[in-house]
Amino acid sequence: MSKSTSTIEEIKKLACETIEKNKKHIIGVAQQILANPEAGFREVKTAQLVAQNFEDLGIPYQGGLALTGLKGRIPGGAGPGPAVAVIGELDSLVVTEHPHADPNSGAAHACGHHCQIGMMLGATMGLMTPDVLSQLSGQIVPFAVPAEEFIEVEQRLEMRENGQVEFLGGKQELIRLGEFDDVDIAMMCHTASDMGERKFAMGGTSNGHVVKFVRYTGIGAHAGSLPHRGVNALNAASFAIQAINSLRETHKSDDTVRIHGIMTRGGAAVSAVPSDVRLEWRVRSATPSAVVENSTAVDRCFRAGALAVGAKVEITTIPGYLPMRHDTKLQDIFRRTAIDLIGEHATLVMPARRNRGGSTDMGDLSHIMPSCHPYTAGAVGPGHSSEYLITDYESAVINPAKIMAMVTIDLLADGAKQAKAVKANHRPLLNKQSYVKFQRERAETIVFDGAS
Ligand SMILES: [Zn+2]
Ligand SMILES: [Zn+2]
Repeated sequence: MSKSTSTIEEIKKLACETIEKNKKHIIGVAQQILANPEAGFREVKTAQLVAQNFEDLGIPYQGGLALTGLKGRIPGGAGPGPAVAVIGELDSLVVTEHPHADPNSGAAHACGHHCQIGMMLGATMGLMTPDVLSQLSGQIVPFAVPAEEFIEVEQRLEMRENGQVEFLGGKQELIRLGEFDDVDIAMMCHTASDMGERKFAMGGTSNGHVVKFVRYTGIGAHAGSLPHRGVNALNAASFAIQAINSLRETHKSDDTVRIHGIMTRGGAAVSAVPSDVRLEWRVRSATPSAVVENSTAVDRCFRAGALAVGAKVEITTIPGYLPMRHDTKLQDIFRRTAIDLIGEHATLVMPARRNRGGSTDMGDLSHIMPSCHPYTAGAVGPGHSSEYLITDYESAVINPAKIMAMVTIDLLADGAKQAKAVKANHRPLLNKQSYVKFQRERAETIVFDGAS
């Protein structure tokens, strides 16, 4: 073993010792966020807590990025080099029946993002150990990002209208704002409940998607005495939903198509023909081209509903996420690190094509820079449900904090040789400009009058 390798092992050990020593605090931060859930772009208390922690650690940072994001910047002591972002997502979901739901807003951490802020701070604390930091080149960028869950679409469209955001996902918006221009490599870990005996999993991919906000406008009338004078927007929407379900036999299994949605307004009074009915819908598929195909078919179904009853429909298509591409070299560093910490039997590498069906805006980032988004155990229950709970904080927060600290050391020690190699090896599919252009071109609003 060369001298530099043994030095790297020693500084990894120091970083892990710091994380171990601060375990209680790190897990406490995650639990404090669990108790104060906030949905995307509204993570005010959560951002405040991250700010407090950055200040306590003496980390210079910018706040208010894409409304609530915070980005720290810690220069290594061994000279210039690439910037490595360790990301944590600030936002919760809305699951009103979750045991940790906010009784007023219904917000709840049913996707484990509270653990991500804990692990991001833990990894950062490990890396700031003086004898660790002094040997790293480049920069460590702890980055708390808003709004990964693509929900509350109508409220976010209002924010778009008011000029508060353009894109409705946090990392999308941060890319547009140039907040990743000074980052070279990005990583984060997500909790998972479906890992069996494994503690840490890498690889696989996720679905791309577009989001729809659909508004049917009919004509209200007395539902008992004058239904013939009305145009029933609820019937239009319900017919469209059936039409969408009739598309299922056309979905190719390789495309992992998931088309699903909710009705956010179904009428105002039971005694009146509903005249204003609103839907939020999602079209997910494995590739951007399949997303386009399925999105077009879904729009046809929304029109069909309007046509059937003579209602008007306005379909707003909102740029969603891109499929995840893990950088292979970076993933390999993760794999070796995870094996070192928790053993080979507890570590899983999924085939690159294995698509879990969900979506993440880390996929967008992975189109413009080397990125990795592994999964860590510690949760039970189906994701996004009231049963999704963290039962093992060691696996959900401490292990990934140590792994990300060690991966960052691998990247930035030894003159940042590995980070430079990851960068040199990586072929991005998009740059910031082409990404923003691509997303802007997906945004459109169609108005169709079924009566005309
Ligand atoms: Zn989620
Ligand atoms: Zn999530």
